[in-house]
Amino acid sequence: MRSKIVAGNWKMNKNVSESKALAEGLVNELKDVTLENTRVIVAPTFVNLTTVTAVTENSAVEVAAQNMHQEASGAYTGEISAEMLTSIGVKTVILGHSERREYFGENETLLAKKTDAALANGLEVIYCFGEVKEERESNTQEAVVKKQISEALFHLDAAAWSNIVLAYEPVWAIGTGLTASADQAQEMHAFIRGLIADKYGADVAENVSILYGGSCKPSNAEEIFSKPDVDGGLIGGASLKAEDFAAVIKAI
Ligand code: PEP
Repeated sequence: MRSKIVAGNWKMNKNVSESKALAEGLVNELKDVTLENTRVIVAPTFVNLTTVTAVTENSAVEVAAQNMHQEASGAYTGEISAEMLTSIGVKTVILGHSERREYFGENETLLAKKTDAALANGLEVIYCFGEVKEERESNTQEAVVKKQISEALFHLDAAAWSNIVLAYEPVWAIGTGLTASADQAQEMHAFIRGLIADKYGADVAENVSILYGGSCKPSNAEEIFSKPDVDGGLIGGASLKAEDFAAVIKAI
């Protein structure tokens, strides 16, 4: 059975003491919450991974990185490898976030390499993708999403998919306050699951968790999460306050 997952992407927010306080607040909010088949993940900045890992150690909260480099080591100033992440106990990495695509030129060719490096080091990958506003307006979102998934991930064998989580994040809904309706999310998630079924068969498709991301918050999470192919969310803004993030988690 696929897991439900609520993951918080803290982006370039929170210094070390703020990260510690947010992680402590979240652990506290969740201490009496029963999480049935539901994983909670937070993704602080690289410099705060160790601190947040220590705070969350004996809790249900897992820690992910927001990015990594595809090479194992070498002259790549400012970069972080998969092995560096695993060496501090990180088990999951977010790849392909729209901000990485938009501001750092990441594309499917690069993301295929990053995915391979992550999986080779035993990391789970949360792979993000989604159409921009113009693509939604011209009704090309399915073709866009198909390309983003197939070109970055369809070289993988079926077994590798046990370490892949998909995150559909329509770019027009990220940080904008606009949210895909629950029906729009369901429609796209069902399309994505169909793509995986066509390529890898029903078993792989049924077992992959597909998260929704884009202005998901306490007021709309329950409706979005109620859809059968929505297995949770990747949350930006609403993950920066423990109380709000806990409310989103409780919505599942
Ligand atoms: C995100 O950046 O992954 C995201 C979903 O952001 P927000 O929730 O702020 O729209």
